[in-house]
Amino acid sequence: MRYDVIIIGSGPAGLAAAIYGMRARLQTLVIEKQPMSGGQILNTYEVDNYPGLPGIGGFEIGQKFREHADKMGAEFVTAEVLKIEAEADYKKIITEKETYETRTVILATGANHRKLGVSGEEELAGMGVSYCATCDGAFFRGKTVAVIGGGDVALEDALFLARACEKVYLIHRRDEFRGAKVLVEAVKKQENIEIIWDTIVERINGADQVESLSLYNRKKDKREDKKVSGVFIAVGIVPNTEIAKGIVELDESGYIIAGEDTVTNVPGIFAAGDVRTKNLRQVITAASDGANAITSVEKYLNMEAQN
Ligand code: NAP
Repeated sequence: MRYDVIIIGSGPAGLAAAIYGMRARLQTLVIEKQPMSGGQILNTYEVDNYPGLPGIGGFEIGQKFREHADKMGAEFVTAEVLKIEAEADYKKIITEKETYETRTVILATGANHRKLGVSGEEELAGMGVSYCATCDGAFFRGKTVAVIGGGDVALEDALFLARACEKVYLIHRRDEFRGAKVLVEAVKKQENIEIIWDTIVERINGADQVESLSLYNRKKDKREDKKVSGVFIAVGIVPNTEIAKGIVELDESGYIIAGEDTVTNVPGIFAAGDVRTKNLRQVITAASDGANAITSVEKYLNMEAQN
């Protein structure tokens, strides 16, 4: 059997594409790596900027998207895609279990957290080093922790952790945050968050648990150690493009080059959500990409039918 479209990834982009694919009466399959749909929002405590759903939990919105796709009758399989082979008129999607054939592919593989790349980070991962405040924050109730970064995620993590932790150091390498103003204001108001500007982490210290951070203030040219029980690293994301490498064109940061129409340089392969080049990576723009991707898939299939 040959699908009309195979969607790889089940975050907001992939799930929106599944809903639109079914509405377009396309034979649609979603391949997800984990048996849980939602992608990065599963690790978000609260999504406060999706219209109509103020303050909805990340997990809950992920579930709602998935339920909607299920209601439309989209087919899902859990498998890791190992390789894509692009023949002229169809594509082969090779997973560890099976090989699927499809007329078009939507790459909606999203992105993952970026590593800080300092000594102690790998050694103490899971022993006080975390990339997910909502997953691991509860272990640090009443303790002192640090959050590294200055974007939306770092600000949200600091606010989330401040509810249960005694103290939160928010350590940023510059003297201005990149995250949303509303979050910056909330962070500045929170008494148990201390912002440490212009500072980088040089080392994460501890024997079998995080004990302290070695910090370097770049402006003051000063070094100091801060005692913390945990460190939450929120320094941005890297796109999941392993399977796209050598198939479609990527930019210098590894994102798949595609515009709002999600069209890549390879006919029949589309890229939607955080994995593609774009200005704003949020749930709403990912969902919008899913819709655009199916519109482009339909155009492509119509053109093919005419040839
Ligand atoms: P981000 O916006 O790229 O911010 C990454 C932060 O980490 C920046 O402040 C950056 O510093 C810092 N950083 C990067 N590399 C570093 C290093 N090696 N050492 C120290 N600091 C480093 O990433 P994000 O916060 O993970 O957000 C990812 C995307 O998701 C963004 O587009 C964001 O808007 C979106 N998002 C949206 C929402 C929402 O709308 N509610 C929530 C979460 C995420 P500089 O500022 O100096 O570059």
